[in-house]
Amino acid sequence: KQLTVKTMSTSYDVHIGGGVYVLFATEYKELLQHADKVGIFADATAASYHLEKLEQALQAASIPFVLHMLPGGEESKTPASFMSCHSFLLQHQFTRQSVLIAFGGGACGDLTGFVAATFMRGIPFLQCPTTILAHDSAVGGKTAINMPEGKNMVGSFHQPAGVLFRPDLFTTLPEREVRSGMAELLKHAMISDDDWTESLLLNSDFPHFSAEMLSTELLKGIRVKADIVAQDEFEQGMRKFLNFGHTLGHAVEAYFGFGKVSHGECVMIGMAYSLLLSETFGSISPGFTNRFIRFADHSGYPVQAIVDVEFNSLLQFMKMDKKVSAGELVFVLLHSPGNPFTQKVSERHCEQAYHELISRIK
Ligand code: NAD
Ligand code: ZN
Repeated sequence: KQLTVKTMSTSYDVHIGGGVYVLFATEYKELLQHADKVGIFADATAASYHLEKLEQALQAASIPFVLHMLPGGEESKTPASFMSCHSFLLQHQFTRQSVLIAFGGGACGDLTGFVAATFMRGIPFLQCPTTILAHDSAVGGKTAINMPEGKNMVGSFHQPAGVLFRPDLFTTLPEREVRSGMAELLKHAMISDDDWTESLLLNSDFPHFSAEMLSTELLKGIRVKADIVAQDEFEQGMRKFLNFGHTLGHAVEAYFGFGKVSHGECVMIGMAYSLLLSETFGSISPGFTNRFIRFADHSGYPVQAIVDVEFNSLLQFMKMDKKVSAGELVFVLLHSPGNPFTQKVSERHCEQAYHELISRIK
């Protein structure tokens, strides 16, 4: 399975399937053979289970490489880790003719992409994602690291040269990472397609799909993202829709301390909150929101967590969001499932919706 992402600056393919690493010997052979050095930046946990699959594929394609191991997950997105990546490349005589490969989840992809964007003012990189969530993060060219002041605060737009996505690597993902990735898939459905949203909400297996079904669903999710990125690479307009559920989601994530509750679990809570706001500003029915909350709960998402969060802290975190415009909070809401729009929301409405969410969860 495959699709092409076309942006103003470039065009590249996303391949999904257990066999996609053979493409190192075909489609990506030229890119890698012409490189004077190939560097793999690997998430330590993903690597401990699966790195040999990547190494064997590169060896089979006669492509030499050097390996730089990153700490697992978000720890790799620090300024210190970013610096050590650049030092690694310099110490190993990488040049402008070198290529990087990201092997890990969104954190590894974001870091590797930003290193690729900045090393010698920019070199190509390939994404080899290992998490479900990375169907979102590996496509679209947003790269970043975190600052002590906030997440993803330093970064750039740098599109990958290709994405090689193997769903058979998901078998080792912890439960909460499965939930995390599937929340982003549901987000892609909710901002684009009523029927698709309905089919996911009716699927009692969610978030545990067979590998075959997962590939099909992820490809649909990637198509939504690719279409949006093609029209709005630099987030001047509709790319903002991808932030559905994220204004409150990021605030909940920051409140609990990054990593305690996974990103997508927080986004699920954020989407429930956005649906409540959409009852006021769009045409979402209370019945739909309630159904969504029950669905999230039954699917194992920690929706109850919001009950322990104090509103004023949430508000402070929401105000730090990149989507704040002239001091006002801006949310992505839905006219109906599949029909997103952006809306400025007053603090008073935010607080009302917060109390309403808690009363509907209890
Ligand atoms: P992650 O990269 O932190 O990975 C989650 C955890 O799973 C980590 O502990 C990791 O070590 C482990 N892991 C990875 N692959 C594994 C595997 N196959 N088996 C077992 N464990 C594995 O998290 P993520 O959810 O993939 O990505 C989240 C990051 O992506 C965040 O930093 C977020 O800001 C970023 N993101 C970026 C974009 C974008 O457009 N660039 C979009 C969404 C999210
Ligand atoms: Zn997200």
